[in-house]
Amino acid sequence: MDRYDVVVIGAGFAGLTAARELREAGKDVLVLEARDRIGGSTWYQPEGFDGFGLEMGGTWIVPQQTHVWAEVQRYDVPIKDSELPGRMTWSDHGKVLDTLLPVPPQEYEQLEHAVRALIEAASRFDPLRPLSEQDVADLDVPIREWAENVGLTGNAKELMMSWFCGCANASEDTGSALDILRWCSSMDNSLWGMVQASVLGFTFVNGTASLARAIQADGGAELRLSSPVRKVEADDDGVTVTYDGGAARADRVLMTTPVGIWQDVEFSPALPADKLAISRENHAGQGQKVWALARNVPEDISGFGWGTSFDYVGAMETTDRGVVLVCFAPEHDRVDTGDLADVQRAVREFAPDAEVVDARSHDWVHDEFSKGTWATFAAGQFAKYELCVGRPEGRVHFGGSHTARRWRAFIDGAIESGKRSAAEILAAEK
Ligand SMILES: Cc1cc2nc3c(=O)[nH]c(=O)nc-3n(C[C@H](O)[C@H](O)[C@H](O)COP(=O)(O)OP(=O)(O)OC[C@H]3O[C@@H](n4cnc5c(N)ncnc54)[C@H](O)[C@@H]3O)c2cc1C
Repeated sequence: MDRYDVVVIGAGFAGLTAARELREAGKDVLVLEARDRIGGSTWYQPEGFDGFGLEMGGTWIVPQQTHVWAEVQRYDVPIKDSELPGRMTWSDHGKVLDTLLPVPPQEYEQLEHAVRALIEAASRFDPLRPLSEQDVADLDVPIREWAENVGLTGNAKELMMSWFCGCANASEDTGSALDILRWCSSMDNSLWGMVQASVLGFTFVNGTASLARAIQADGGAELRLSSPVRKVEADDDGVTVTYDGGAARADRVLMTTPVGIWQDVEFSPALPADKLAISRENHAGQGQKVWALARNVPEDISGFGWGTSFDYVGAMETTDRGVVLVCFAPEHDRVDTGDLADVQRAVREFAPDAEVVDARSHDWVHDEFSKGTWATFAAGQFAKYELCVGRPEGRVHFGGSHTARRWRAFIDGAIESGKRSAAEILAAEK
């Protein structure tokens, strides 16, 4: 059986970054990846719509995401800023409002209150430190409960809840409000910054795959694709990792798969109760990201909706056949992505004359190697699991964007966690 210093499980940004850092420190590293590609929860499909490449997963980055930003600069990977829309579109249960703001003048005060409540709550904590160690348990409640607790009303409440759900890719009854307030806090308590970090940040000109490939090539670790890991067995002398197609032995193992996958791998010794519990509960990011190509929609639409199937519909590009729209829904069954008529129905809630001619989506929720989109915590999970997800268990270490601090559940958080876990492994070996 081949012996390595470290076996890294998963070739997403966390695994690729950790492998590079370990290789730079002179370690012999094997990366085992279940899929036939690297990139994990990012997946760039260059053919896309008429040559406009589509990101099926992670897409936007902002300069405040210092880990991914540093990697982009290190490898000189081209990125581009989003073009700002001429105006925002607001859809109230499918009725497009013709007002500039999402509320009528009689409700401006409520809107101001909602913005203030958001910034005040986000200002209460430091996103660089564990949130479960700060006095914010009252914010770790479902999005709806937070909106009610701070007294939001009218359209301001509807919009705020829907927008939080958009950021969470989770429903208002599952997603933790604290996890979304963290976005605002991570953008130095800027509401506009939070919008940029969600859908108006920078994108990769040649797709997220361009950065993933650069990190992988630089690290040069041995990589085995289509090799799902089934068993991780640790003993006093090392760890045996069994995957479809073989087995490898290492001093230490780094697990970077999404949390929902842990329960499918046979660990010996068994995973502790807290890790097994979050794996079974899973995180709340269980929604949809859908690309639609549509005629008869404004070329710069940026639509936020409440009481609609999608919570966001935004234009990314115009091709000969129509406008490329990126759409999000907070639950996985809101829109039948295989049915153009249903996608059109949902888009029409934002652009009533839209004619959808093509649509693409990846079902991350039912993908056996993801079991969800991005790792938004469900309400209450900070207190129970924030610290346990990244805690090493003997020779087995745990990384992945869900273990990061400031930008947990982002590409940046994956890279942060890759660096942190590589350093942890190197320190443990001394
Ligand atoms: C639809 C969507 C939209 C998103 N939008 C954004 C965005 O705009 N900006 C942003 O920054 N982030 C976004 N994210 C989140 C971001 O993509 C992730 O946080 C990040 O890519 C996670 O990286 P990771 O390495 O931690 O995990 P992953 O990328 O999930 O990598 C884990 C790897 O482990 C592999 N694996 C699983 N099981 C096994 C096994 N048994 N054996 C071996 N390998 C296994 C998987 O195949 C995968 O490659 C989005 C994610 C999704 C899904």
